[in-house]
Amino acid sequence: MDTRTILLERLAAVRDRMERACLRAGREPADVTLIAVTKSVTPDVAAIVAELGIAAMGESRPQELWKKAAALPSVNWHLIGHLQRNKIERTMPLVTLMHSVDSERVLDALSEFGQKQRKPVPVLLEVNCSREAAKGGFAPEALPALGDKLLSLPGISLCGLMTMAAYSNDPEDARPTFTELRQLRDDLRRRTGLELPHLSMGMSGDYEVGIEEGATFVRVGSTLFENLP
Ligand SMILES: *Cc1c(COP(=O)(O)O)cnc(C)c1O
Repeated sequence: MDTRTILLERLAAVRDRMERACLRAGREPADVTLIAVTKSVTPDVAAIVAELGIAAMGESRPQELWKKAAALPSVNWHLIGHLQRNKIERTMPLVTLMHSVDSERVLDALSEFGQKQRKPVPVLLEVNCSREAAKGGFAPEALPALGDKLLSLPGISLCGLMTMAAYSNDPEDARPTFTELRQLRDDLRRRTGLELPHLSMGMSGDYEVGIEEGATFVRVGSTLFENLP
């Protein structure tokens, strides 16, 4: 089979699983966006995915996002990895939503950029719910204290939270992580009065659990792209 046919079948399978997860959770399929994570493929493969109707794509490295966004400017690009402050100016104009704000320093720098542009930057805060030392993001315990600060940053439009579950072969292992992210969002919403509509949670191994727990974005890479010809 050629690459296009394989991708067509894989996308249909992922969409089907997403829909069934929505049904189980009593949610509308239209409320969950599939982000195809293209970090392991060339712009040519990403172009096929765009032709097959995927409007949202994610990259974890800014330089790779620059390259793919230049090749595919009509895609909605999501940054899902660490952003150094010196790459904000070049990266953020290309980005629909920044999922992975992982420190107050980056938050402050993004706010400054948003103010300069006179357009608040839409962001999610990355939270290290799985509490792995190797992972970035805010500690869950740090979020309550951030509440007041979030309201005082004029260049930021805070849209919600993002997390990554610990790697596991059993998707159920991810559930407590995703439940916690949703509860943290609900807390922060009460504390700040912000709407915080988005939860970015769920990857190839656990996106259905993410949807059952309230994800509005799932970030799927390897299930779509592994072992292409
Ligand atoms: C690579 C990556 C993904 C996609 O992971 P897969 O397991 O390949 O689906 C999702 N989110 C982030 C932050 C990533 O870096």
